[in-house]
Amino acid sequence: MNEQGLFPDVRIVLVETSHPGNIGAAARAMKNMGVTSLYLVNPGDFPSEQAVYRSVSAADVVENAVVVSNVDEALADCELIIGTSARDRRIPWPMLDPKSCAEKVVAGQASGSKVAILFGRESRGLKNDELHKCHYHVNIPTGEAYSSLNLAMAVQVICYEILQASLQQQVPCDDKAMAEAHDDGRGSAGENWDIKLATAQDMEHLFEHLEKTLIEIEFHDPANPRQLLTRLRRMFNRIRPDQMEVNILRGFLTAINNRVR
Ligand code: SAH
Repeated sequence: MNEQGLFPDVRIVLVETSHPGNIGAAARAMKNMGVTSLYLVNPGDFPSEQAVYRSVSAADVVENAVVVSNVDEALADCELIIGTSARDRRIPWPMLDPKSCAEKVVAGQASGSKVAILFGRESRGLKNDELHKCHYHVNIPTGEAYSSLNLAMAVQVICYEILQASLQQQVPCDDKAMAEAHDDGRGSAGENWDIKLATAQDMEHLFEHLEKTLIEIEFHDPANPRQLLTRLRRMFNRIRPDQMEVNILRGFLTAINNRVR
């Protein structure tokens, strides 16, 4: 295995982790499975000896972790974003189980996309606005009485499935099975697409522009938001537009802005 591990384009993003031991244990779980890119959003206590100690032989993963101050920075250049969640949320989002999540991650990396998998705070998981930045949510099935895994254990399960999915793909298989493994659920917009997919940063710019325009034309009332912007985010994340499609939409919004002014 090279220094970058097996999955250089797959990053694990831990959001506002409070216990440094969990960062170390997560790093170990990752490296065991060949995943080595770790992003820490505003960690509670880091750098930390405890994190290095708990990582055992994955100290390199801890030491190379990229520390950022918000989730957008961690996601900016990613084209596929998956959020983990221990419970049902109010607005349903496209859901994956760990195995189908891993298939999307491996297919995403194979098609040249950067992939981020978001993990939440020990105390209260990911916030809604963080979950709404994701194309998919993944839930690890559990016993009914207790659905919340320890953070590093959740990282272990997700990374284990990623390694399994990539090992499966190395086994020769017929064309149909191969096609299924690469199907990312958007018809033909997978490996052979002509334009690069929009990144998280492209999408944030689009959403800002859209929100501003909807307010300008008085379609959206920030004083009474209901779920309008969440539903629009969910729709665009389901489509997963490419960069040219986002540019067309931005041009269309600019034309509206010009007309209104
Ligand atoms: N009490 C929090 C759970 C925090 S567990 C809540 O109710 O949301 C810390 C993190 O571990 C979660 O944010 C998620 O990233 C991961 N995790 C824990 N259990 C999980 C599960 N069953 N499925 C997916 N991710 C899980």
